[in-house]
Amino acid sequence: MPQRVEVDPNLSPAIFPSRVLNEICAHARETLPEECCGLIAGDARVRQRLAYPCRNEMTRRHQLDPANFPRDGREGFYMNQLDYLKAVQEAEASGLRITAVYHSHVGFGVYLSEMDLEYALHEAFPFPDADHIVIAVFDGKITDVGLFERDPEASFLPGRFVLAGSP
Ligand SMILES: [Zn+2]
Repeated sequence: MPQRVEVDPNLSPAIFPSRVLNEICAHARETLPEECCGLIAGDARVRQRLAYPCRNEMTRRHQLDPANFPRDGREGFYMNQLDYLKAVQEAEASGLRITAVYHSHVGFGVYLSEMDLEYALHEAFPFPDADHIVIAVFDGKITDVGLFERDPEASFLPGRFVLAGSP
């Protein structure tokens, strides 16, 4: 099992366009008490230009196959395939590419859990080069957002907190 990856508070924060940050935080509140998930598209200059919310189908998978999916959508995410394929098409049509996958943690902080890492590093994961973004929600409020960039040598670099700004 890979170790979980934490945010290093000493690293400089990552700056996301406010519109994109607001949109993924709103999505995280809308899907309570379950985790949200989705994709971010951008280009070389601004990696976070558009957010594509996707449905989290972990609860359905858990109900159909609890042995292989022991947790439901409150403690895990599984992106709906139609939603993410549509997002990829729309992003490409706008001249963008998928740069990140986001999801929320309900009642937990920002880190990549062992389960997140297993999913992100699985050979069937559709976005092997994407960064991961985690949104922490406690009592209905967003407390932190973290960005985890891929480490070409291993799995992920230590995370950075995300702040809103203009790129
Ligand atoms: Zn997670």
